[in-house]
Amino acid sequence: MTEICDVLVVGAGLAGLQCARELEAAGRGVLVWEASDDVGGRIRTDRIDGFLVDRGFQVLNPAYPAVRRWVDVEALALQPFGAGVRVRREDSLAVLAHPLREPRLVLKTLRSGILKPHDVAGLLRWAAPAYGRRRSHRGTDSPLREALDGAGCSGELRRVVDQFLAGVLLEDRGSTSNDFALQLARVFASGVPGLPHEGMQALPRQLAAALSSPVRTSTRVESIKPDGTALVVTAADTVVRAREVVVATDPVTAGGLTGSAVPAMKGVLTHWFAAGTAPSEANMICVDGRARPGGPLVNAAVISNAAPSYAPAGQHLIQTSALFGAGRPVPTDDEVRRHAGEIFGAPTSGWELVARQEVPHALPAQLPPLRQQPMVSPSGLIVCGDHRATASIEGALVSGHRAAQAILG
Ligand SMILES: Cc1cc2nc3c(=O)[nH]c(=O)nc-3n(C[C@H](O)[C@H](O)[C@H](O)COP(=O)(O)OP(=O)(O)OC[C@H]3O[C@@H](n4cnc5c(N)ncnc54)[C@H](O)[C@@H]3O)c2cc1C
Repeated sequence: MTEICDVLVVGAGLAGLQCARELEAAGRGVLVWEASDDVGGRIRTDRIDGFLVDRGFQVLNPAYPAVRRWVDVEALALQPFGAGVRVRREDSLAVLAHPLREPRLVLKTLRSGILKPHDVAGLLRWAAPAYGRRRSHRGTDSPLREALDGAGCSGELRRVVDQFLAGVLLEDRGSTSNDFALQLARVFASGVPGLPHEGMQALPRQLAAALSSPVRTSTRVESIKPDGTALVVTAADTVVRAREVVVATDPVTAGGLTGSAVPAMKGVLTHWFAAGTAPSEANMICVDGRARPGGPLVNAAVISNAAPSYAPAGQHLIQTSALFGAGRPVPTDDEVRRHAGEIFGAPTSGWELVARQEVPHALPAQLPPLRQQPMVSPSGLIVCGDHRATASIEGALVSGHRAAQAILG
């Protein structure tokens, strides 16, 4: 049977949901079809043995402009991480904390041994454009590594910056757009990331709940073909004629459906462990700042120290993240455990594996120069998603908004 609709949105990740919401608010009739069994796309949360387990460790920064504008952050009951980072050094787990947000840690930060004046000056030189009046650097973007080298950011502090950013950007070659990294630095400085009380998927669920007709899940679009003034969209057991279609899938699927360019994708391997005793009191993300890191992890964190709702009472939840894909050897569970034990400086023998997740297509590569990608594919279809804006929650929401604007004219 062929249904008829005004606008069909393909994909119920953040971009598709934001787009659908804005179209509905403007009075358009919208259907959302989603291939998976639930909304959220790359933001999903499972409940396993009483733990909340996100599909790949990620955080929500309430300072993202798009989040401020379109998300009811208060309703998510964000549980914030500490504003800083814990650093594994040869002989200690040091702390580098935001001086204004964590004033009680200022002395510890100054005494961490990591902040050498020359290195701090280099880091400030690198970060300065993020805070200056000239925030847009059209034509001056470069790979992150070049920019950090050029600013003279060096020493142990540079290693910490590299490790931290590798965990955020999911790459450790410094090939990402420096302008994008500076955008993230600005957001990190102005807001403290956290985890919603019900898990990260609470974010897309909030967007979906605002739609008047529920997202149709388990409906994978197979083709989109023009037919007169309409588009005929086919899924396995259903066909719809739509006046307009927005393709809000992941970048790889969007390429197949529309002929739009597919960026290289970056992956992450996340382990979630349960422990009766927390290996650290720290509520911050931990990185290995040693000259020779002891293993594959780009970061680790005792999630339940920051977000108690993620673990049952009396239990602790720990995450570890390693880069994944692009010809890298896949670390064994033992290698992951050993490295996590070194980072926290605590035994891991009592830890139990709750989940191991390979996410090969976590983020699209965000290479310089940073620029908005076209919203219209070579075949004339409107495409949105983080790959059309920036590789982030912010980018996905912004691209959904732009797609809605494109349709509303
Ligand atoms: C492990 C991980 C960590 C991350 N960490 C952060 C972080 O800390 N901060 C941050 O800002 N960002 C982070 N991100 C990025 C952020 O989650 C994404 O940028 C954002 O969720 C992308 O949303 P999207 O709507 O563009 O795409 P997606 O979430 O990929 O949504 C696309 C949707 O389309 C559906 N679909 C695909 N094919 C079809 C089809 N044929 N028919 C119908 N539906 C289809 C998919 O099932 C999916 O639901 C992280 C991502 C991952 C995976």
